Amino acid sequence: MESPIQEYLESLLADVQRLRGGEPYRVHPLGREPNPEDFGICLATVDGRVYSVGVADQEFSIQSISKPFSYGLALADYGFDAVDEKVDVEPSGDPFNQISLAPVTGRPPNAMVNAGALAVASMIRGGGGKSAVRRIVDTYSRFAGRDLSSSRSVFDVEIRHSDRNHALAYLLSSVEVIENDPSRALENYLRQCSVQVTCRDLAMMAATLANGGTQPVSGEQVFEIDVVERVLSVMMTSGMYDDAGAWVSSVGMPAKSGVGGGTLAVLPGQAGLAVFSPPLDGHGNSVRGLETCRRVSKDMEMHFVRAA
Ligand code: GLN
Repeated sequence: MESPIQEYLESLLADVQRLRGGEPYRVHPLGREPNPEDFGICLATVDGRVYSVGVADQEFSIQSISKPFSYGLALADYGFDAVDEKVDVEPSGDPFNQISLAPVTGRPPNAMVNAGALAVASMIRGGGGKSAVRRIVDTYSRFAGRDLSSSRSVFDVEIRHSDRNHALAYLLSSVEVIENDPSRALENYLRQCSVQVTCRDLAMMAATLANGGTQPVSGEQVFEIDVVERVLSVMMTSGMYDDAGAWVSSVGMPAKSGVGGGTLAVLPGQAGLAVFSPPLDGHGNSVRGLETCRRVSKDMEMHFVRAA
């Protein structure tokens, strides 16, 4: 017999599928146009159960959903003080690629906007025989519970469309927030954005955050609880860019979106939710992703006020 959760997700998928509007991200390798009709929803619980409907196992680019995981890796590597010195923890309400640096210090407002993510990417070093990118991809893989990889062809088109991120990286270097080669920071950031994930992977990654940093299936502690606490706090206030206020009001879960069409939301102590649907609104958030999270939050009482 089908579980009530499975049944609920199936009817939700059918319902939200009807929602129109939005445009998929335009930057992609030739012949890999995103299909606006692709739509999947996955819910993973902290005890390792996964419910999935629709397009759950097709890979797409993680894009900005990489930011909280790299932020956590930098915090684990260097400690809070060293990272905070470079990147603040204040909501900016800015679009993701805003040239938003504090006057004088040039400190980016948070690690969820590109300026902050570039600063974080510049901090992550190789070690133990692994390059910085390898360490980043390995970290995401431990969250997902399977080996992920960064797509070369996605990276190649991303770097050709990166004038703004290039400018940001050099600006950050001019104020010494980035202390090493800014073009290397940009490259590492775009390689992390090009990591390929499925909706199921994102749900497992979210469930790992919900589970205090321990992957529900492998049992591996990937991040310490204090790192998870910080990452989720910044996601709560800044994960949805300039839509963050509306998001917290209507969904009330720490979340992160990416222009690849993924959306990830976390209910601490309980579950991770992931949605894949490429059409994006003007903020770069997935239209169906947003609506799905709103509906799930309401129907399953996942808003932090109700879930408490
Ligand atoms: N590659 C994109 C960029 O930095 C990622 C943005 C996003 O997912 N919002 O421009």
